[in-house]
Amino acid sequence: MKLISYNIKNFRSIEYMKYLPEPVKKEIEIVSRVLPFKTNNYVVDYLIDWENYETDPVYILTFPNRHMLPKHHYESVKDAIEKDLPEIEITRLINKIRFQLNPHPAQQATNVPKLNGVDLPGVQHKYRDIALFFPTQGQTCHANCTFCFRWPQFVKDLDLQFSMKEIDQLCDYVKEHEYLHEILFTGGDPMIMSPKTISTYIDKIINAKISNLDTIRFGTKSLTYWPFTFLPEFNEEAQEMLDLFKRIVDNGFHLSIMAHFNHINEMSNEVVEQAIKNVRSTGAQIRTQAPILKHINDDSEMWARMWTRQVKLGMVPYYMFVERETGPFEYFQMPLSKVYELYTNAIRIAGSMAKTVTAPVMSAAPGKVQIMGVVENPIDQENYFMLQFVRNRDHNKTFKPFFMHYDENATWFDQLEPVELQLKSA
Ligand SMILES: *Cc1c(COP(=O)(O)O)cnc(C)c1O
Ligand code: SF4
Repeated sequence: MKLISYNIKNFRSIEYMKYLPEPVKKEIEIVSRVLPFKTNNYVVDYLIDWENYETDPVYILTFPNRHMLPKHHYESVKDAIEKDLPEIEITRLINKIRFQLNPHPAQQATNVPKLNGVDLPGVQHKYRDIALFFPTQGQTCHANCTFCFRWPQFVKDLDLQFSMKEIDQLCDYVKEHEYLHEILFTGGDPMIMSPKTISTYIDKIINAKISNLDTIRFGTKSLTYWPFTFLPEFNEEAQEMLDLFKRIVDNGFHLSIMAHFNHINEMSNEVVEQAIKNVRSTGAQIRTQAPILKHINDDSEMWARMWTRQVKLGMVPYYMFVERETGPFEYFQMPLSKVYELYTNAIRIAGSMAKTVTAPVMSAAPGKVQIMGVVENPIDQENYFMLQFVRNRDHNKTFKPFFMHYDENATWFDQLEPVELQLKSA
């Protein structure tokens, strides 16, 4: 295939503008004042079908459009720009809109742990056995997803960044909590960091000899947005990254790459296939996860083909999420009843190897809730959602099915009415 240069370029500075008519560029300009917008030449040249860009899943995944903002917000930003208001007033307006878009869903900011009474601001510890680490240099991405719940982190003037320079504190913290056995590097996209930077973190972890630490994970979308991270023939740092993975494995850790794939189009060229092969050859496992989104992947057949292809490429389907209530969620969200229907159709088509997926799952304030089914109670002939926590702040509350009143239009856990009835389970 054609050799691609691997400078990350911002859309504004490059010729991809040629694909788009003037009014669409104008829209992007307006919406991207509120929601962060970033893409790169690999995504644009290889993942988007420009003949049909308006419905192309990767286009919608990376390019903002006017429907992603509530109409009145869109109009007010448009107005402000057209009236040429002073920059300070536009900024004020934009910040006001951002704060109305629920920048911190599921109270993420409340999961910050303490070491010797001092906050560890680059760490989140919500579930007993796993700590999330937000390395300072990994809080951006190679491109931005339009639906992303992490969007406030990409908007510099919002003071909501989690980050921490000191990995030592994290190691001490993990040592002090012997039931903690996983560290998940997340962001942004931690794979945006150079292998040297990641090595400084990893070497500290290895040298800390934390006997309770079994697993290191990286949450990343690099296999979609920048597979060159793992391709030495394109990128001189890639071998170093692969060697680092191997070093993690050789030091006795389970290394899991939590790869984010929204659509099968993201895994349909030789570059991605080779990147996956290279990662797997280090001994790392690749597990896949993504939210189900209207306009991008609300298609059971596609999910079935995507999971099947993931398995064929040696990856393990892991989570299908429900879109969180943040940013442009109204554009992407579907009722839980619809999500559940799409999921069951997909899993039935996909066959046995896709059974490793846990779905559909809402990452809600108390924990990750799986929708297990819609059941009719023969006594009152009413419908109920059957759910279970697959993750909960209190691990004793996981894997106990429970019921909530069925609501055809509910889009999130907190809209469901509880029911007294509980299954008796271990
Ligand atoms: C999803 C999540 C994890 C990882 O959960 P797994 O079910 O182990 O993949 C860890 N911490 C937080 C805060 C999460 O939301
Ligand atoms: S790559 Fe991940 S963190 Fe970055 S914008 Fe997309 S979903 Fe969000």
